[in-house]
Amino acid sequence: MIQNIGIIGAGQMGAGIAHVTALSDRKVVLLDVDENVLDKAIGGIDRNLKRQVTRGKITEESAERALSSIVVTTNYNDFGSTDLVIEAATEHELVKCKIFETLVPHLPKEALIATNTSSISITRLAATTDRPNKFIGMHFFNPVPIMQLVELIRGIATDEKTFYDIKELSEQLGKVVAEAQDYPGFIVNRVLVPMLNEAVYALYEGVGSVASIDNGLKLGANHPMGPLELADFIGLDTCLSVMQVLQTGLGDSKYRPCPLLIKYVEAGWLGRKTGRGFYDYSGDEPIPTR
Ligand code: NAD
Repeated sequence: MIQNIGIIGAGQMGAGIAHVTALSDRKVVLLDVDENVLDKAIGGIDRNLKRQVTRGKITEESAERALSSIVVTTNYNDFGSTDLVIEAATEHELVKCKIFETLVPHLPKEALIATNTSSISITRLAATTDRPNKFIGMHFFNPVPIMQLVELIRGIATDEKTFYDIKELSEQLGKVVAEAQDYPGFIVNRVLVPMLNEAVYALYEGVGSVASIDNGLKLGANHPMGPLELADFIGLDTCLSVMQVLQTGLGDSKYRPCPLLIKYVEAGWLGRKTGRGFYDYSGDEPIPTR
């Protein structure tokens, strides 16, 4: 039984994963390099739990119990009794490899390692650890407490026990599992992110404004969010990184990232999380920037 869970990276995804794992009566250690991020994460989890209480989804006691079972830290020593560590740090292979190198000496021998990467090879990340058989891709979706899917990706060395333990955990968290093979972008991002990139091309080439493109897909294709709104929500740095992984991993020019997407990331306009992307989030309502 996976009872003690460590999470690395307390951004949008790490905080969401901490929220759902703590609500399932597990102990959670949440680590980030940045103490301010940890404070912000706990504040956000508290607000989201309270919202679930107000909506009658969970009781006040379970919200309080969940919040009190999360410990925040910047120190890997606190992972000494974890059964599973889920890595949800920035989508950069070198960052993740460095994290695994630091993590492994602090982990119990039997502990499993999962990565929430959106696109990087599970097999390659697993090979940087001492336990590729106990390593798996566990890809949650944003916002984690609301989105039902978890994509589970076996690396070439992932053993069946690891897969079934993580599948069981995912189901206990109330998620539905989709099994994907270890190819760039797995299933959902292989299909979704090129569509978001194409929407940025439509904007870049002047085919339509932000509002026309988003309304077009919402009303014309029945999507709940427009592609530019969704790209802002995911994070433009993450979208760019996924496109680069698809381009390098699959070698097809159809995966080239749009130059406008690159420019936004260079400008630090990363979407909702930085207050500006294809929309400006500084006021009450998001305002299209183009
Ligand atoms: P984010 O930018 O909100 O958070 C990343 C966090 O990682 C930051 O808090 C940062 O301080 C921390 N970090 C960076 N380097 C670190 C290090 N060396 N050690 C510990 N922490 C470190 O990003 P996010 O959207 O939460 O994405 C995190 C991961 O989840 C990425 O791999 C991303 O591809 C994946 N993912 C994202 C989404 C999405 O919709 N945003 C969905 C599924 C998966």
